[in-house]
Amino acid sequence: MGTAPLAPLIELNDGYKIPQLGLGTWPLDDAQVAEAVVEAVARGYRHIDTAAKYGNERGVGNGIRNSGVDRGELFITTKLDGMYQGSGKAAAGLEDSLERLGLEYVDLLLIHWPLPRRDEFVSTWKTFEELQAAGKARSIGVSNFKPAHLDRLFRETDVIPAVNQIQVSPSIPRPAARAFNDSHGIVTESYSPLGASSDLLNAPVLAGVGRKYGKSPGQVVLRWHVQQGLVAIPKTSNPQRMQENMDVFDFELDHDDLAKLETLDAGPDAGVDSDVQGH
Ligand code: NAP
Repeated sequence: MGTAPLAPLIELNDGYKIPQLGLGTWPLDDAQVAEAVVEAVARGYRHIDTAAKYGNERGVGNGIRNSGVDRGELFITTKLDGMYQGSGKAAAGLEDSLERLGLEYVDLLLIHWPLPRRDEFVSTWKTFEELQAAGKARSIGVSNFKPAHLDRLFRETDVIPAVNQIQVSPSIPRPAARAFNDSHGIVTESYSPLGASSDLLNAPVLAGVGRKYGKSPGQVVLRWHVQQGLVAIPKTSNPQRMQENMDVFDFELDHDDLAKLETLDAGPDAGVDSDVQGH
């Protein structure tokens, strides 16, 4: 165990480091995810993405304990469910997650959605700052936040989020959101990096670029994320695909390849509306 090559690390604005590639775990259940975490760790994954909303934190915890790797070598993200937003509730939300995971701390705690109509994300963030100071969450960040939501955190709170996890892929490249994150030292983490249930991976241009390097469409897409400096969390419970998705650090897309991938951009209206709870 532990001999598989690992993903490179990206430094966060608080000094901690996040593995550039992690395992997405939605919609795996407890039993499936426990097995998937063990398989992934054996293939070099050290970063696992879960959320209270996924209902699989117990399984993630079991996978961690069965992985044969020290907890300290793993980077575990969870996300606060909307029902726990608000200053009094966020601490209880993290406590519940830690109890289900069987962990003393998480490496990264995210606000899952801004839920701007509830207008509780600022008070939630102030509680996140306290949880970070108490060592319960090493890094704190957000998900599905637009620049306007982040601007409010910058004005009304002290700590700049380390990460904003948003939907990004070659078909939904989100250049403005990423540039905004970059300009504030926030690492962009791509969810649905392979296009989730869309037909992105069937695009002929990906097969064509992949042939040049002996790589699959999924590997070309994940390499695109890596070269954009993004963190990506592809989900699969298939060990062969886990291996494939990790095997993207030995080739380089050139300028022409990147130009070809730009043709996959589905336009500014594609993707989720972050005011709506997704997964
Ligand atoms: P994704 O990772 O882009 O795509 C997952 C799909 O791709 C699955 O159907 C998987 O099938 C397939 N797949 C995986 N590797 C493949 C490969 N090498 N070749 C072909 N197909 C492959 O989409 P996602 O699950 O939506 O996003 C990833 C993770 O992001 C989630 O699991 C979750 O942790 C997180 N997420 C967060 C939010 C948020 O609001 N913060 C929203 C959505 C997702 P198999 O499983 O059958 O292999």
